[in-house]
Amino acid sequence: MNGTTPAPFTADDHRDRMARAVRQAAEAGLAGLLVAPGPDLTWLTGYTPTAETERLTLLVLAPERDPVLVVPTLEAPDAERAPGAPALTLRDWTDGKDPYAATATLLDPAGRYGISDNTWALHLLGLQRALPGTSYASLTEALPMLRAVKDPAELALLAAAGGAADAAFEEIRTVPFAGRRESDVAADLAALLLRYGHSRVDFTIVAAGPNGADPHHEAGDRVIAHGDMVVLDFGGLKDGYGSDTSRTVHVGEPTDEERRVHDLVRAAQEAGFRAVRPGAACQDVDRAARAVIADAGHGEHFIHRTGHGIGVTTHEPPYMVEGEERPLVPGMCFSVEPGVYLPGRFGVRIEDIVAVTGDGGRRLNNTARDMVIVD
Ligand code: ZN
Ligand code: ZN
Ligand code: ZN
Repeated sequence: MNGTTPAPFTADDHRDRMARAVRQAAEAGLAGLLVAPGPDLTWLTGYTPTAETERLTLLVLAPERDPVLVVPTLEAPDAERAPGAPALTLRDWTDGKDPYAATATLLDPAGRYGISDNTWALHLLGLQRALPGTSYASLTEALPMLRAVKDPAELALLAAAGGAADAAFEEIRTVPFAGRRESDVAADLAALLLRYGHSRVDFTIVAAGPNGADPHHEAGDRVIAHGDMVVLDFGGLKDGYGSDTSRTVHVGEPTDEERRVHDLVRAAQEAGFRAVRPGAACQDVDRAARAVIADAGHGEHFIHRTGHGIGVTTHEPPYMVEGEERPLVPGMCFSVEPGVYLPGRFGVRIEDIVAVTGDGGRRLNNTARDMVIVD
């Protein structure tokens, strides 16, 4: 992810996002937000530095003051070109000066600030040294829903990323699987994602046979054999927004049991999707999918949450998990991805990205959900 996000967002969009962030920070009892380079800064300002370095870059947001981006002098021309730059004040600092002392002048010396999760410890320690009376909270924990509700332009970008991932699946199902290594198919998948417009591939899971029973298996040297179930789970960023989809294919004709387990996961995925509507709790999506699998006696084989949000990253709040009682809101976008994992044998996972609409949900992945047979 280099340079600025190639997204159709204006300075006004970024001004609105920063205002929303300041409002939510105040509601959370924070004096403001401190945002280092990463997904939060990209979303708030459209600025993604070419490299994250030991030199401090930090967005300072606080009520009743204009947003300030503290930036190294040599990075300032790049920052000035960011879509959100007209909505903020740049304050540059040169090598040899203390950027933490300069930032301290912008902060309440006794304030509690939300700070982005990926801020380097180096920088947080520098701020604490400059202002020992300040305290800090995780930005994501304090404002978990900050980026969760997408606007129409963001939804269009997520749909386009989903469409590109679908195009990659339509093509990967035609390549030979049997006799090739998982890592070969994974390389094909990565190339397809890039060909269909992704700028970054985050993961290409190809898990054949018993490897499919491990949801964290990426892709290895296993040679895919006739008779293998193969879990495919892949995604990345296209035009700054994420894709993430899973399909489980079978090499040749499956057994009755393999078909039964696949149909079960498909039914669970459908139940999760149907639970998506405004006002339902996030955990309701998890419960709906999980109930189908538990009723079939496979509850202990569904060993992860049902879904996660997606946006400028491929994993973010909201989480579709037991205990997450916050309501679904139109514009939220997340995965619905139940699975069944039979240790030592095989696994099945089916995953679509779903956007919450005014009265339900809309899938952003639309390839076949019945079992695809590959060669
Ligand atoms: Zn089989
Ligand atoms: Zn996935
Ligand atoms: Zn996922």
